[in-house]
Amino acid sequence: MRKQIVAGNWKMNNDLSQTESLISELKKIKKTSHAEVMVAPTFTNLLNAVVALKSSDIEVVAQNMHFAENGAYTGEISASMLKSVGVKTVILGHSERRAYFNETDDMLAKKVDAALANSMRVIFCFGEELADRKSGNHEQVVESQIKNALFHLEASAFQNIVLAYEPVWAIGTGETASPEQAQDMHAFIRKTLSNKYGNTVANSVSILYGGSVKPSNAQEIFSKPDVDGGLIGGAALKATDFFAIVNAF
Ligand code: PEP
Repeated sequence: MRKQIVAGNWKMNNDLSQTESLISELKKIKKTSHAEVMVAPTFTNLLNAVVALKSSDIEVVAQNMHFAENGAYTGEISASMLKSVGVKTVILGHSERRAYFNETDDMLAKKVDAALANSMRVIFCFGEELADRKSGNHEQVVESQIKNALFHLEASAFQNIVLAYEPVWAIGTGETASPEQAQDMHAFIRKTLSNKYGNTVANSVSILYGGSVKPSNAQEIFSKPDVDGGLIGGAALKATDFFAIVNAF
């Protein structure tokens, strides 16, 4: 059975005391679904979040990392640094990283390699822009993002990879892909994986949907057979909304 996962990406929001308040709110809410739950605070709050969530079943994950082990990369953070504060999973390839920080498929391939070499789990994000969707190129774009960053990997690496399809036009815009659009793309992604690695691998990889998921639409999106959960931005900043999404499974 594929894992169902709901991950909250807090982006560049919440200072230390706001992070601690949000965590204490999250800890008060009862989880009624089987989904794995993750939250991604900003770098400066990772350690406090790990400590605060230690005896909970909420995993703390990072929003990004560099591919090098260490060295002259001012302002960057390595996999081993994340591990040293108890973080075992990292989000890579978020569209905001690609758009504002020029992250390319090649760079992301290196980041994926570095994370896996450090025995970390990767949530790998990708998705088309509105112009790609309008011109009917969305499948091609998504296929090339996946192939360029991941298809050099051995099949066994996919035990530690979660995919997150996030159409750029749906991120933070209030506009959501319809459940059918999400299902069609997730099925296409699974077929792309299957063509390269076979059905067993393709059927074992969790594929999350991200893009304006909220309590009112989560259940319908998560009911689709190839949607294994969500990567949540805005709605993850409010504990009750986030857990309404987690409990939508
Ligand atoms: C995201 O940034 O990964 C995201 C899905 O954001 P939002 O839920 O706010 O659209």
